[in-house]
Amino acid sequence: MALQLHDSLSRSLRPVTPSQDDGVYRFYNCGPTVYAAAHIGNFRSFVVNDIIRRMLELEFGADKVRHVRNLTDVDDKTIRRAREEKRPLTEVTQEWTAKFHADCAALNCLIPHVEPAATDHIPEQVNMIQVLMDKGNAYRAADGSVYFKVSSFDNYGRLSRVKERELKAGSALEAGNTGKDTSSVDADEKEDGTDFALWKAWKPEDGDVKWDGPKGTFEGRPGWHIECSAMSKKHLGATIDLHTGGVDLLFPHHENEIAQSECCNDTEFAHHWYHSEHLLVDGKKMSKSLGNLYTLDQLKEMGHSPVALRYVLLAGHPRKQLNFMLSSLTAAEKALQTLRGFRAAIANQTGDPAKFDGVFDALRDDLNTPAALGALFGIINRGTGDADAATFDRIMFAIGLDLTPPAETIIEIPADITALAEKRWAAKQAKDWPAADVLRAEIITAGWTMKDRKDGYDLEPSRQ
Ligand code: AMP
Ligand code: ZN
Repeated sequence: MALQLHDSLSRSLRPVTPSQDDGVYRFYNCGPTVYAAAHIGNFRSFVVNDIIRRMLELEFGADKVRHVRNLTDVDDKTIRRAREEKRPLTEVTQEWTAKFHADCAALNCLIPHVEPAATDHIPEQVNMIQVLMDKGNAYRAADGSVYFKVSSFDNYGRLSRVKERELKAGSALEAGNTGKDTSSVDADEKEDGTDFALWKAWKPEDGDVKWDGPKGTFEGRPGWHIECSAMSKKHLGATIDLHTGGVDLLFPHHENEIAQSECCNDTEFAHHWYHSEHLLVDGKKMSKSLGNLYTLDQLKEMGHSPVALRYVLLAGHPRKQLNFMLSSLTAAEKALQTLRGFRAAIANQTGDPAKFDGVFDALRDDLNTPAALGALFGIINRGTGDADAATFDRIMFAIGLDLTPPAETIIEIPADITALAEKRWAAKQAKDWPAADVLRAEIITAGWTMKDRKDGYDLEPSRQ
């Protein structure tokens, strides 16, 4: 069975195959906006994309996959954050890019082959806008901004099937008015409400964030959508094999990318479109605006491991919404223990690789990770006989679970803290509660927590 993924454009399951003669599979994944820590909802989409990357490598060979994931390092949100913090834009975006990389590494995500940043590709974006203006697909508005003329592209709406009436100016689905660039769609300047910004003329709140624009326009910055069209072309060519992102990017972002790229390049932009579903909390999309988010750091502070989060994210079908619960992390730790135990038990055993076929079949069937885990645990429950260690490791590679046990952190307890704890324990035994309380307070002030058991106590450093 070959790897198949759902294609959002044809609304069907389609095999993935490289379309170009060199046999290289070209894969573009919309990346993060680097103005704050990505939340675990964002990481659901990056983990799903990491599994796609891994499955593609298993399918075609590691050297036949080219994976590009961009960094949105200039848009309304990044500029606003820099302004609020009175810091240069690049300082803010570099800080959050580094944090994003650290979290990706903790979640065992493979590094994309290219990670282009929007601000490093201004000339490419300006050139593309220029071509669109020259061809009559874009126009300059009175304020020096440039808009894409949606009516100039007959195929507009094919991906999202967005209905004419929903595209009306002012509607929540207005093509240019959703996503990362939210604040400055100058409806008055546009010829039609559905048109979206390719180039945004400088405004005082943009501070020193500005570049020279296409001919005849004012200084400003590119819109969000054009960055992906320009960077995928630069790093993967005019036609790519697969373009992915979370479902919220389907409209308007991906619809707009298609319009820009196809009008500029006169060829199909992406053969295959894949969208992963959202992570929810209490039935609502995890998002910054709702404030219902968790970051990886928050989970780590609660004592959960990144690999447990990765497991939780795998346990839901990537194209179905997944409701996140903290309790699922505890269940995940147990499942990981079972996997570690099984792996240790089979050691270097050689067996029948076909035993695990059901697991790979589930993954090749539109990344059905819950079915793959179900098949895997079915095999594990039947025992280790015949299990081939190398094949088991290939499964772990495919889903990106690193089973190395978390390093035991040996914490040295300073002698003065032990002494205080001993004194407090003695006071407690003597039922001298006031003295015990005073000593407990001293221990806390020194940055330690004393947890009483029936027959003794544990000392732990307090969490920050
Ligand atoms: P952003 O940094 O906002 O551009 O988002 C990065 C990626 O995270 C995009 O592919 C979004 O579609 C995705 N995303 C945002 N919120 C969620 C969520 N709650 N669950 C899953 N994916 C999400
Ligand atoms: Zn994009």
